[in-house]
Amino acid sequence: MKTITIPESKIRETVKEYGTPFHIYDEQTIVDRLNNLMSSFSWVDFKEFFAIKANPNPHILKIMKENSCGVDAATITEIKLAEMVGFRGEDIMFTSNLTTIDAYQYAVDRGCIINIDWAADIYELFENEIIPDNICFRLNPGSIENEIMGDSKESKFGSTAEQIKDAVSFLAKNGVKSIGLHTMVVSNENNAQIFGEYTEMLFEFAREIIDEYKVEIDFINIGGGIGIPYQPEDFVDLKAIAGAVNEAYDKVLKSNGLQPKIYMESGRYITGESGYLVTEVIKEKETYKKYLGVDASMSDLMRPAMYRSYHHLTNIDAEARGEEESEVYDVIGSLCENNDKFAIDRLLPKSKLGDLIVIHDTGAHGHSMGFNYNGMLRNGEFLYTTDGKVKQIRRDETLEDYTTTVIGGY
Ligand SMILES: *Cc1c(COP(=O)(O)O)cnc(C)c1O
Repeated sequence: MKTITIPESKIRETVKEYGTPFHIYDEQTIVDRLNNLMSSFSWVDFKEFFAIKANPNPHILKIMKENSCGVDAATITEIKLAEMVGFRGEDIMFTSNLTTIDAYQYAVDRGCIINIDWAADIYELFENEIIPDNICFRLNPGSIENEIMGDSKESKFGSTAEQIKDAVSFLAKNGVKSIGLHTMVVSNENNAQIFGEYTEMLFEFAREIIDEYKVEIDFINIGGGIGIPYQPEDFVDLKAIAGAVNEAYDKVLKSNGLQPKIYMESGRYITGESGYLVTEVIKEKETYKKYLGVDASMSDLMRPAMYRSYHHLTNIDAEARGEEESEVYDVIGSLCENNDKFAIDRLLPKSKLGDLIVIHDTGAHGHSMGFNYNGMLRNGEFLYTTDGKVKQIRRDETLEDYTTTVIGGY
């Protein structure tokens, strides 16, 4: 059973005033997840840098700021979004890839932590006298597999251990005394053992670097990748995940007198469960299968179409009616793409035209992955605040917004 943490009356009021579809986020859930993350890692000097891409709405980023987190930005635009909310300097981790000199210059000028994807960039930075105060390297260990991330040897991210060692050797010769290390090799992962294994590998690598080059490792960023219970029967044991990391840390680092800070850049874990996409049944259709057509589409939530991922659906009107019959449906959007389906062969209470369907766990990689294909205008976002109010945090896009970049004269 998956519950909806926002009172149904608040959802219905929002539908009445603004219409469907929209995303609504529960602030309390976000605060709870942040607190749980921080308390699970309280055994170490810890900081979370929220991965902006998961939910870049400035109102959401502000919640991170109010809870003493930093942010992880992948692009200059994401750095600028962070700056709009008041993040500065080392509260911004810049983890981009294919990073241009101009992008480095922008981030270095602002004092961000520079997480370098391609280690050889460091030589070019020194040639151009762009010298970050805070340098981190992204390791691609080439040996980890995960359902969403795939095989790390096939991953375009990061640099090999040897390439990072060469770069660190160069930095040590140039008088740099302290660096950070990073890896991000899992996504939506619930298995504590996997976190234990890859962090142990990363910590071993940190120790080698310290031994060989006599540099200090100020922090180790173990990435994001903590899963959320998309399926009602899933369970994410964050204490066990943090415990596995703690064990690896004690074994490899602490026992050798090393105590670097631990950073994370979680996205999904922090905001994923806070979000709901509220949509209305606009068509019932039956061909070789039974379809429920809704007014949201994959342009509001791409994950089911892109990864065939499960998102739980609750028909709140069928529940309110006490509907006892059920049916197997494909729940579909109206894009001209056959993969525009929120659910395939899903058993739901018998549903009717006009029913409200709440799609769960849309707070990460939901609205942020939205797009305008087929002239789909992007829908609004709301925040259910900790003081029990619904606040609009983004209005619906209009045709005027959509066409504003078109040059006239056609
Ligand atoms: C996507 C991403 C994250 C966040 O991942 P989650 O699975 O949402 O926690 C963190 N760091 C980097 C570099 C990423 O690309």
